Amino acid sequence: MASKFTEVHPGIFEIFLPLPMRPTIINVYLVDCHGAWTLIDTGMNSPESVATLDEVFAQIGIKTQDLSAIIGTHHHVDHFGASGQLRRRSHAIVHLHAREAERANRMVSYGSMGGMSQRPEGRAFLLSHGFPIEQFSPTGMRPAWMGTSMYDPVTAPDRFIDDGDVIKVGDREFDVIWTPGHSPGHNVIYLRREKVMIVGDHLLPKITPHVGIYADSFGMNPLGDFINSQKKVQKFDVELVLPAHGGVYHDHRHRANQIIEHHRYREAEMLDLTRNRPQTAFEIAHQIFGDGRPVSQVMAATFETLAHMEFSCFEGRARKTERDDRILYQAL
Ligand SMILES: [Zn+2]
Repeated sequence: MASKFTEVHPGIFEIFLPLPMRPTIINVYLVDCHGAWTLIDTGMNSPESVATLDEVFAQIGIKTQDLSAIIGTHHHVDHFGASGQLRRRSHAIVHLHAREAERANRMVSYGSMGGMSQRPEGRAFLLSHGFPIEQFSPTGMRPAWMGTSMYDPVTAPDRFIDDGDVIKVGDREFDVIWTPGHSPGHNVIYLRREKVMIVGDHLLPKITPHVGIYADSFGMNPLGDFINSQKKVQKFDVELVLPAHGGVYHDHRHRANQIIEHHRYREAEMLDLTRNRPQTAFEIAHQIFGDGRPVSQVMAATFETLAHMEFSCFEGRARKTERDDRILYQAL
């Protein structure tokens, strides 16, 4: 069996945990703080993931009870889904940004409700952006893990972390760098002395993370935040980048520039479609991403398009108008 972990820097272990969806692996990071242990992100609370984590801990020579601290980069199921059970088994101090705790609570409360199209605010939001709700099954509009034990997040973290905080555990120091965009309270964790940056979903080597606008974030500018967060991380001196998906790499500045460029190109492509005729986010997404996809992807494409069009409006490159309860975007 292939090893489920590798020591990527002295005392810093990258652990590969399975996911039942794409991407199929999440990397979490265990740091030997010499007399204490810190885990950054937890994986999902599935039996396979928890068993893998236990097995790797045993191979490294620790037990779950030995964890002193858990730091969540953000609230998503693959990153923070097992934090609840890990805290119960270890009494580790759990660190998370306040905005992520708020969202973890919201995701848990959505668990007892139907899909987005069955919640009044979700329904109004989807319709206003041209999403043809009636073409899709309501259950498909709800992630499979929602409302199950696979998402067992700590909803009341022991410590709220914010930009500039330094978390001290044993002889290690973890700098918190707030990088909103993919999620509003996303943080990357920087080990200044070691020049190692644990980037969560912010700076993935091969794919770009989802940046979207939803019913509760309409009026915000997550893509603008995301691009600013790409510029922000470039100021730090980094020799080793540890992402949540994909292999470790070195040049974070180069990757940040590629990601910024990807979104500039995407925005230009979307704006071009609206030059002659204003369109809803759904219509634009349909032309960019095509059809025949599962509803979860159609939704993600619409939310991602919305993030680009709102960004264009903030930047003065597009305007939005309302017609027949629908929001239309057009390039300026
Ligand atoms: Zn994520």
